[in-house]
Amino acid sequence: MLDFSGESLRVRFAPSPTGKLHLGSARTALLNWLVVRREGGKFVLRLEDTDVVRSSPEFEQDIIDSLKWMGIDWDEGPDIGGPFAPYRQSERMDLYREQVSRLLEEGKAYRCFCSPDELEERKRKVVAQGKPWRYDRKCLEIPQEESERLAASKPFAIRFRVPEGKVVVKDLLRGEVVVDSSEIADFIILRSDGRAGFNMAVVVDDITMKVNLVIRGDDHLTNAVRHAMLFEALDSAPPLFLHHSLLLGKDGAKLSKRHAATAVSDYRERGYLSSALANYLSLLSWSPGDDREIFTMEELVSEFNLKRLSASRAIFDIDKLNWINRQHMKKLSNDSLAGLVRPFIEKAGEKELQKIPPEKFELAVESVREKIETLSEAVEQLLIYTKKPDEITDKALEELRKTSDLDEVFDICLEALRENPGSSRDVAERIVKGLREEAKARGWGAKKILWVLRLGITGHVIGPDLIYLIMFWGSEGCAERMEAKRRIHELH
Ligand code: GLU
Repeated sequence: MLDFSGESLRVRFAPSPTGKLHLGSARTALLNWLVVRREGGKFVLRLEDTDVVRSSPEFEQDIIDSLKWMGIDWDEGPDIGGPFAPYRQSERMDLYREQVSRLLEEGKAYRCFCSPDELEERKRKVVAQGKPWRYDRKCLEIPQEESERLAASKPFAIRFRVPEGKVVVKDLLRGEVVVDSSEIADFIILRSDGRAGFNMAVVVDDITMKVNLVIRGDDHLTNAVRHAMLFEALDSAPPLFLHHSLLLGKDGAKLSKRHAATAVSDYRERGYLSSALANYLSLLSWSPGDDREIFTMEELVSEFNLKRLSASRAIFDIDKLNWINRQHMKKLSNDSLAGLVRPFIEKAGEKELQKIPPEKFELAVESVREKIETLSEAVEQLLIYTKKPDEITDKALEELRKTSDLDEVFDICLEALRENPGSSRDVAERIVKGLREEAKARGWGAKKILWVLRLGITGHVIGPDLIYLIMFWGSEGCAERMEAKRRIHELH
């Protein structure tokens, strides 16, 4: 499908560091990355930081960290350099100015001396007549010599002179997008402060960085028309374009904070797995052609095919993401899962949990893994393992006190624990099995005994499977915990 006449594929991800890496942008980065890792070629990271007021180094760092966390790497970029450095637009201004001068000399651009106030005033009049405003080409009339003379004393911007005719953008997903250039105003390619306009910078960069496939959101489709004209004016062949649909909230508006957390780093902090997030984002635009939904990054790379990308709406669905996260967590070994949960415990400042020795910690994580949707949720579930032997909730106390034959049940539990010393799975299973049989022999439901065992060990009405509790504290430890509660809370 992708044929670049022998040239290798060059794609770029070009975020503006004016905010944290948005899920929608991460999806764009991922699609570019999957294509290039699948087809071979180079992935360029370019920071479009021309908006000096809104861009910040913190956002740059967030973007870089979030991409790396997702497993998206690049071959050229601001942090690692490359043959077409620099990769930060603020450091490329001379390059843009050079190309703007060239367009000016060739008559493809002109100086505009209209001040913002003048423009505002003229716009107001046009709008008052019920007409749409578009730059009225006032300065196009200024003769060349006059323009040069004025330039010495007056501030000016440089506008691209939009040529007449049809503009065609070839889009891999949408076919040919044809726009009549009369719909497009002469746009600014160099601002009065000497900085390049957004569209000019993008096109000069794509030309000089030899980008031959541009995958980005369809909010850039209108820009693409301007880009197509600039490529032509600069005598360069445009890259292939693919404008994918934007990531939307349930109400159909662009996904924003009012719908859900939007930054990749928010999801990282909440304990989503990067592989699950990437899996989910990929499925918003693409399907493998069958009903499989769970993919590792490696599987995505080998399965991904641009042909299976759809232009349909991509609606963010947190329930689906949660489900996918669960599926990815299921695939992890206890050891790996425990390793991923640990930083969340440190971040939560749970010192007691941090003191649990590694093998016990792994067991504890195993005992809660079915109950959690994200890594961070494990912290709360694990707290049960930090309770002091005599600690008990009011609810658990109430439950114990209303149990008939409580003394006897306590004795039965303690005896079973003492008769089976140890902390292996076998021991734990034997204890639980024995207690079930004991209950049966007495004509009781198994719950009567096992419920007291649970409340006695943990002091809580909810918690992990009994087998894990016995393995965690060992039968001796469990007996001590039950006795402490019995003694201190006078449970008879
Ligand atoms: N800097 C633009 C953005 O963050 C992307 C421009 C492009 O991909 O051409 O939306």
